[in-house]
Amino acid sequence: PRLANQIAAGEVVERPANIIKELVENSLDAGAQHIDVDAEQGGIKLLRVRDDGHGIGKDDLPLSLSRHATSKITTLDDLEAVGTMGFRGEALASISSVSRLTLTSREKGSDEAWQVKAEGRDMQAEVSPAAHPTGTTVEARDLFFNTPARRKFLRTEKTEFSHLEDTLKKLALSRYDVAFTLRHNNRVIHSLRPAARTIDREKRVATLLNPQFMDNAVHIETEGAGLTIEGWVGLPTFSRSQGDMQYFFVNGRAVRDKLVVHAIKQAYRDVLYHGRHPAFVLYLWLDPKLVDVNVHPTKHEVRFRDGRLVHDFIFRSLHRALADIRP
Ligand code: ADP
Ligand code: MG
Repeated sequence: PRLANQIAAGEVVERPANIIKELVENSLDAGAQHIDVDAEQGGIKLLRVRDDGHGIGKDDLPLSLSRHATSKITTLDDLEAVGTMGFRGEALASISSVSRLTLTSREKGSDEAWQVKAEGRDMQAEVSPAAHPTGTTVEARDLFFNTPARRKFLRTEKTEFSHLEDTLKKLALSRYDVAFTLRHNNRVIHSLRPAARTIDREKRVATLLNPQFMDNAVHIETEGAGLTIEGWVGLPTFSRSQGDMQYFFVNGRAVRDKLVVHAIKQAYRDVLYHGRHPAFVLYLWLDPKLVDVNVHPTKHEVRFRDGRLVHDFIFRSLHRALADIRP
């Protein structure tokens, strides 16, 4: 129980974007190849994630809504080398406690689908038969219907949707092999096919972020000292006007990290004499033991075992790439 509490500390559903992150990560954990996200009114009225993953069996359906019943982590050592994305075993429980939640699933190999419902803290006892292809749909309606105080902290529909969309962008940029769609108020916002080749990946980046980015970016790929960095950095003419286009992934997870941004800006400054608003989509890969992803419960932050090494590696990689294209 101590470990469970340690992980749970500070874990809250604040807004629709948090929910989408948890649900889509569950779908990815389940091996989904297609993930459809539907939102209404910024996700406050409705959030629905449908996948074609391995599904959940009838007996496990109610369990997956109960707190910590499913945590895959048993020791602190496990915490340090988290392999799959989900590990706290409580996202669905948290989400169901602040919404009207329906979980429908058909397990791979089964010819029956089943459904459970929960409203706030009350879970409907019985599992009922449902119609669903192999995979899972989670639907959360009326976010914070039972906690008006928290509902007040939600911003406008538009703002909530833009957070939600940004969260989905980061997920789509971390799994090019998976197809995603995003609909808002029944309008298709993004429809992304799987992207295997570099050119298809570049297309996904361009569609999601900015159609001009790829015409104004260099591709980089560097390896050394057990680290790999790959991705795209924007040319200064483009970068200057795109201050918010900064996407950095560590071992496939989107992170915000001061040390990383510092290394990138320093490379820009060194080569181009200014480090203002670089635009980038970059992926850093390193031994999971050299990075701690549990600094913050929403996992946006990381702590590198050897920050100096990582900083210098990023700096040198970008320095070389930018020097090559210096006008
Ligand atoms: P965690 O992902 O940390 O285990 P969650 O509350 O997010 O906890 O999910 C609880 C459990 O429900 C998962 O461990 C998984 O077994 C099951 N589950 C949730 N979503 C899906 C899904 N989309 N497909 C298959 N299984 C799922
Ligand atoms: Mg999860």
